[in-house]
Amino acid sequence: MKNFKTESKKILDMMINSIYTHKEIFFRELISNCSDAIDKLYYKSLSENIGLNRGDFDIKIKSDKENRVLTFSDNGIGMTAEELESNLGTIARSGSLAFKNENEKKEDIDIIGQFGVGFYSVFMVASKVQVISKAYGSDTANMWESNGTQGYEITPAEREGYGTDIIIYLKEDTDDDKYSEFLEYYKQRELIKKYSDYIHYPIKIQQEVPVSSPENTEDNPNKKIETKLEWETINSMVPLWRKPKNEITEEEYNQFYKDLTYDYMDPFMHFHIDVEGAVDYKALLYIPKKCPEAYFSKYFERGLKLYSNGVLIMDKCKDLIPEYFGFVQGLVDCELSLNISRETVQHDRQLQRIASNIEKQIRKELQDMCDNDRQKYEEFYKVYGLQLKVGVYNNWGMDKDKLQDLIMFYSIKQDKLITFKDYVNNMVEGQKYIYYATGSSIISIKKMPQTEKVLNSGYDVLCMTENVDEFAIKYIGVYNEKEFKNVTDGDTGIENATEEITDEDKPLIDFLKETLTGEVFDVKLSKKLGNHPVCLSTEGEVSLEMEKVFRNMPEGDLNAQSVRAKKVLEINREHKIYDKLKNLFETNKDDLKELAEVLLDEAKLIEGLPVEDMGRFVELATKFMI
Ligand code: ADP
Repeated sequence: MKNFKTESKKILDMMINSIYTHKEIFFRELISNCSDAIDKLYYKSLSENIGLNRGDFDIKIKSDKENRVLTFSDNGIGMTAEELESNLGTIARSGSLAFKNENEKKEDIDIIGQFGVGFYSVFMVASKVQVISKAYGSDTANMWESNGTQGYEITPAEREGYGTDIIIYLKEDTDDDKYSEFLEYYKQRELIKKYSDYIHYPIKIQQEVPVSSPENTEDNPNKKIETKLEWETINSMVPLWRKPKNEITEEEYNQFYKDLTYDYMDPFMHFHIDVEGAVDYKALLYIPKKCPEAYFSKYFERGLKLYSNGVLIMDKCKDLIPEYFGFVQGLVDCELSLNISRETVQHDRQLQRIASNIEKQIRKELQDMCDNDRQKYEEFYKVYGLQLKVGVYNNWGMDKDKLQDLIMFYSIKQDKLITFKDYVNNMVEGQKYIYYATGSSIISIKKMPQTEKVLNSGYDVLCMTENVDEFAIKYIGVYNEKEFKNVTDGDTGIENATEEITDEDKPLIDFLKETLTGEVFDVKLSKKLGNHPVCLSTEGEVSLEMEKVFRNMPEGDLNAQSVRAKKVLEINREHKIYDKLKNLFETNKDDLKELAEVLLDEAKLIEGLPVEDMGRFVELATKFMI
């Protein structure tokens, strides 16, 4: 008996004592080894003209339920006694990575789940393992045997042809772990479909089928039906994404999506990417019709499936897709070096390049759709617009340049969603700003006096109805050298919007300012308010919409709820109400104070800001009606 090397012992110990719930991944690991061994022999055959064909190879999994023994067999390259010694006596593939994390149990579990640790993962389910192997071209076979604790033994053995059998003596079932499940046809089928469907060689398992004999007919219901075992190939071998695009029907793309995501609806669209060059990869990506409900919650996990050489390496590789395209589903297939680990996935140059390439491809597809098929893009945008806008705003606007041409807002002039590019292309002579207004709905924005003021000056106004909108705009700041301007901004750049306060007006305006101290920062006279008596505008950085968002924030350290916009009450000098104010200033200052309160509350209501004392507002408003 030989002892395992220290490094291997640690991994084995981790496997044997593993509490990891997805012990099933040993299945994937063993199949992957079988497939590698066949690849090696097939390659040898091609390069040395041995004359073996692809069709000569297979991987067979046999179940002996009575003895709880599961055997994986391949007719691949096999191993000599020396190779058994060097390959299975030391951990090869993931040794170094698992070793690195030996002190952190939790990390270990992640590694097992996402990458497996190769052959040794079999000890999660086995009490004893025998590997009988005959190397191609050799006359003798050998058996490696171990219970996974101290060491292993290698002895001469018998095997008919070249290849390898991994004979697994399953552990006893416990309440938590039903190891005998791995002997069942349905379980084996499920695992092969899940992890190894795209292995290039047939993976065969045995299914019990009734024997067709006279005794097995329906006339003989009491007789136990005789069965026999038949080999069945489970994996589909050629993955859809590796087929040429023109050979794949829309139906097949859709069905594949449904199998992949368990969505019952067809996807909104798909992109099939096949890149060769600096980075080689294939990707099949889908945009679902609906965004997952939990998208913005911490439970949502974005990511693409990552395959390497037909083997599923990772179910949700989040580093392959940026947060703002987190709704994209699908998979990436590339040839990774074998010693990839979870940490190295993040830092792997090849994967980083693939990720950046995928990001560009998705963006390009979306931009094309936006430029050339606006109707379809609108459909997309109605579902995912918010996600893109949040993308602009997240990470301090880091990705704004990538996303700003993909976002749209409703234009009042054009009565539809438009991009900033559309807006700028339609700007009128001499227009300095991109105007926008915020509010709870397009209808309420249209009714705002400030909106009317800008529209009356001939400029279009973009409607922003979601909380994130204005924050996103602030990050964009300038588009195509045009600044954004909220219509409620004190200085909208529209000439003569506010009127000079004459000496005659001044005492009244000063009185109103005094009355509303604490509530408003300033009181001004305005033109272009149309039929509206008053409106609110702001000075400084915080707009009315931002104040609203801050008010609704959960109580936190930053005391965001108390952030207030510097409000300016604008009064329409051409409105009758101004005459009434002047009149009261001469005759009844108490009433004037109350009317000022009513007008301020009205202006707040139009903006969707809360009126602190609704009872008082109603009482005072009624007083001025009668
Ligand atoms: P990896 O497959 O990542 O190299 P493993 O621990 O799974 O790591 O396997 C160790 C080595 O054992 C493999 O590299 C291979 O050389 C050998 N091996 C495992 N299974 C087989 C097999 N079925 N046929 C031939 N060689 C095998």
